[in-house]
Amino acid sequence: MPELPDITVYVERLEDILRGRDLVRIRLASPFLLRSVQPSLESFYGRKVTQVLRRGKRIVFVFAGGGRLALHLMVAGRLHWKASVAGATAPVTIPKSNGLMAMDFAHGSLLLTESGTKKRAALLAFADDASLQEKFPVGVEPLEATPAAFAMALRSENHTLKRSLTDPRLFSGIGNSYSDEILHRARLSPVTLTAKLTDAEIETLRAAVIGVLTEWTGMLRAESQGKFPEKVTAFRAGMAVHGKYGKPCPVCGSPVQRIKHAENETNYCPTCQTGGKLLADRALSALLRKDWPRTLEDMEKLLAKHKALTAPHGDHGATASKPK
Ligand SMILES: [Zn+2]
Repeated sequence: MPELPDITVYVERLEDILRGRDLVRIRLASPFLLRSVQPSLESFYGRKVTQVLRRGKRIVFVFAGGGRLALHLMVAGRLHWKASVAGATAPVTIPKSNGLMAMDFAHGSLLLTESGTKKRAALLAFADDASLQEKFPVGVEPLEATPAAFAMALRSENHTLKRSLTDPRLFSGIGNSYSDEILHRARLSPVTLTAKLTDAEIETLRAAVIGVLTEWTGMLRAESQGKFPEKVTAFRAGMAVHGKYGKPCPVCGSPVQRIKHAENETNYCPTCQTGGKLLADRALSALLRKDWPRTLEDMEKLLAKHKALTAPHGDHGATASKPK
């Protein structure tokens, strides 16, 4: 799933391409992509894009008049920019096999594709920022949060570090890939409970969050070389542990380990992160599985109940995190 670094680079390119341009129309190839009823997509036609921004793992297109379109790429959604060909009479073709949508502008079309059979990418329209924020409250921005705000978010609920880092209500834009990289950088175990962290460990973690996300954003920006990013993936050759099961840890050489979940896995280095302990150990492994973040769909249902980080938290942590 594209996380903060990938979404940031997408947003920067989209700002360059779309800011100040009028949306002509939106063509939906899949009726399931659009998950909202009001306002209609037609109400955005002829309106100027004034800004493109990241909100959590979503890309938000802001239009003149205040309307917003929020796009979540989920795991396999990808964007492509096709500049208009001079003199062309037909609009840019939406790929038959995996195309979901085209946002047409006079100078080109933004295409959305999603590989695989599970179509999860989602587009929602909002009349204004308040309604968007109400539907999708997000946690603290990891690159901007003060040390106190970061610590408060981390300590607001007692979960494994892996789950808290990837909980969009707590932290904005961090998912499975970069949480593995961050925990490896911080030399912290994915199963450490947040309530047990010392102030020093939280500061180490915050530094790792900023370091990993900033470095990767820079690398991805350089890789795209000012062009539209076409190589978005959760698995990068330069990652230390994510997707590196069995490969040597770049710091100590120990083989990277994993804990499998329903659809993905957590990777870690036992020497660097868990005092040599293998989390395949039944109790620890069970702890992380039990505390594994819910799917985003489940998370969004939960969001309806927990509108903001500051809202009183009930016992949902104990009840909603049961394994399926
Ligand atoms: Zn290591």
